[in-house]
Amino acid sequence: MNISIETIDPAKRGTCPQELAFGNIFSDHLFTQVSDQGKGWHSAAIKPFHNLTLHPAASVLHYGQEIFEGLKAYRRADGGINLFRPDQNAIRFNHSADRMVMPRVDERFHVEAIRQLVEIDEHWVPNQPGSSLYIRPAMIATTPKLGLGASSSYLHFVMSGPVGPYFKEGFNPVSVYVSDTCRRAVKGGTGDAKTGGNYAASLFMSEQAAKEGYTQVLWLDALEGRYIEEVGAMNICFVYGDKRIVTPELTGSILAGITRDSVLKLAPTLGFEVSEQRLDINEVLAGIDSGDITEVFGCGTAAVISPVGRLRFLGVDKTVNDMKAGPVAKRLFDELTSIQYGKRDDPFGWVVPV
Ligand SMILES: *Cc1c(COP(=O)(O)O)cnc(C)c1O
Repeated sequence: MNISIETIDPAKRGTCPQELAFGNIFSDHLFTQVSDQGKGWHSAAIKPFHNLTLHPAASVLHYGQEIFEGLKAYRRADGGINLFRPDQNAIRFNHSADRMVMPRVDERFHVEAIRQLVEIDEHWVPNQPGSSLYIRPAMIATTPKLGLGASSSYLHFVMSGPVGPYFKEGFNPVSVYVSDTCRRAVKGGTGDAKTGGNYAASLFMSEQAAKEGYTQVLWLDALEGRYIEEVGAMNICFVYGDKRIVTPELTGSILAGITRDSVLKLAPTLGFEVSEQRLDINEVLAGIDSGDITEVFGCGTAAVISPVGRLRFLGVDKTVNDMKAGPVAKRLFDELTSIQYGKRDDPFGWVVPV
C-alpha cells in the first residue's frame, strides 16, 4: 500500500522552538488512513497538519473506543535520526486494537508511515540535550451511531511534536502518591491496553495528588489494594542493595512498557540482576525503612528513567535515597539514552535509523 504525500508550502513550514515542554507543539504533517467494514485500510496519506472532521455521534466521542501509542525519534550527533524499537510499539498497538475490538494495522506499514512522517518533518527533530521528537500514533472509532457497539469505521493517524525533558524537575526525583482509594485497572479490564479511558479514569486521583504536591500516582492492584502495579504512564522498579532490580510482574492489568522491557534486557549486561515479581506495598515501604531498598525509579518512553524520591501512602511519607537520584537510575538512564541517541553500541538492534 502506498502513502499519498502532500507536503506543506515551504513558506508555511514551522520552526522548532528552543524552549520545549511536553506535547504542546506539533510538527507540520499528519499521517492518516481509514478503515471501513469490508474494505479494510485505505486512503493512506501524509498531509499538512490539519484538524479532524468528526460526526458528533462518532463512537469515540461517546464510548471511548480509542487506542494510542507513544515513541520517540532521537537526533544523533552525526545529524541522523534514530527511532527506538518502533516494531514493539506497532505490536502493542495491535494488542490494544484487539482488546478494543478495533482493526489491526499492518505493523510494517505502520512503522513505515512513522518513518516517512519523521523524514518529512525531519527539521522538527530537535538537537538540544534530552530533547526528541515525540510520535503519537492513535486510532479512533468514527462510525456515527449512538447505539452501543463496535464501530464499523476507524481513523488511524500519527502526529508528532518536539519535546524537551519530560519532568520539569529534570533528572531529579519525583514525589509519588500511592492511591489507597482509586484503582487504575483490574485483571480482565483494559489496563494492559493503551486506551484513552484508562487515562481519563486516572485524572481524578492525579489532580488530588498534584494538589498535595505529588507529581505522579502509584497504583495498587484493584483486587486487594496491596500489590504495586505502576506509576502514571510509567512502569516502576525498585533497587535492592546496589545490584538487584525488581519490577512488578505483568498481571494483565499493568501496561507492558517497552522501556520496562529494555531495562530488563539491558540491566543484566551491566552487571545487575533483574526479576519480575509481585511486590506488596507494605513490604516495599518496610524495605525503604530498613535500607534494603536503595532506589525507586519509573521507566517509560516520555521520561525514559525517572527517579522517585518520596512515596506517600495512607498519610505517611517515606523518603528514598535522601530525595536524590541514585546511581542505578542514573546508570540506566545514561546507557539507555546513549543507545537511543546512537552514542554507544546497540547489541540488541533496538535502534532503527530513519
Ligand atoms: C505507555 C505506558 C507505560 C510505559 O510504556 P513505554 O512503552 O515504556 O513508554 C507504562 N504504563 C502506562 C500506563 C503507559 O500508558
